[in-house]
Amino acid sequence: MPTIGVLALQGDFEAHEKAFQQAGARTVQVRAAADLDSIDALVIPGGESTTMLKLIHAESLMEPLRQFGLSKPIFGTCAGAILLASQVSQPEQDSLGLIDISIQRNAYGRQLQSHVAQLDLDGKPLEAVFIRAPIIRRTGGSVRVLARHKGDPVLVEQGPHLAATFHPELTAGRGVQILFLEKVRTCAKN
Ligand code: GLN
Repeated sequence: MPTIGVLALQGDFEAHEKAFQQAGARTVQVRAAADLDSIDALVIPGGESTTMLKLIHAESLMEPLRQFGLSKPIFGTCAGAILLASQVSQPEQDSLGLIDISIQRNAYGRQLQSHVAQLDLDGKPLEAVFIRAPIIRRTGGSVRVLARHKGDPVLVEQGPHLAATFHPELTAGRGVQILFLEKVRTCAKN
């Protein structure tokens, strides 16, 4: 059973813990660099990426997270996806650069605080909740798009890493968590 760390500085990390436990993983909360030593993979939750970034810097976690991502899988949702991207706009901000995507924050406009959409994940229906979500405007050559919404990529992977612009921890299905756990197992074998 893999141990999934959930970055617990800000945002809806408890919902991610529950979702991964339901999908069959052990979870621990990550607040400091030393917590990264005991986990097989990390989840960066949704929340407010600017606030999360400030807390990451305050805990001197930026470099440890980058190093962790060089050998172990990271799954970022919404604000977490923004933190994983190589380029962030609206406004520009620092990020880990572990997935080669350009991502625009709060891209659905102010009126649209949240919405639910039906996606197709590998031929299976997937309900997706978007909350002040970003839009992925560019994907690099090594990025694979796993799901789209209105033509825009909303679930992408690069190597061991996975990013969703929606919140798979807030809906009942556990397909996305299971998909990430498969990546974690594959990464552990290699
Ligand atoms: N709008 C937030 C940001 O830019 C992300 C929203 C979310 O994580 N639900 O960081």
